Amino acid sequence: MNTPLTDSQRAQLHTVLERRKAELLADLGEVQRDTLSTLAGREGAEPADDQKDQADRQALGTVRDAEATRDHDELVAVRAALARMADGSYGECSVCGQPVAAERLFAQPAAARCIACQAQAEAHPR
Ligand SMILES: [Zn+2]
Repeated sequence: MNTPLTDSQRAQLHTVLERRKAELLADLGEVQRDTLSTLAGREGAEPADDQKDQADRQALGTVRDAEATRDHDELVAVRAALARMADGSYGECSVCGQPVAAERLFAQPAAARCIACQAQAEAHPR
């Protein structure tokens, strides 16, 4: 059984997440300037468009586009983690509701699931 985060651990992770969000926004800003002509203003696309969006990017077949997709996915996860911090659910597994191990959160601050539920999700993709 994992113990919930302490206030100071939570504060540290909040700082890490905010910094990561700023980095990702900066990275995506650069990539988008470079690829604006091919991606034709996809910034701010709704999640429902993501699969088509990703397919389009993969069809373009460049490393930069793969990086942009990864950065975008991570940014979504980081923003969700910050939202969970705001509503007090950060650090609880989104599947089973148990505390997520602190060492997992420090390795991956945007993680929404505990190790057991993450392994389950990877073994049985949607
Ligand atoms: Zn879980």
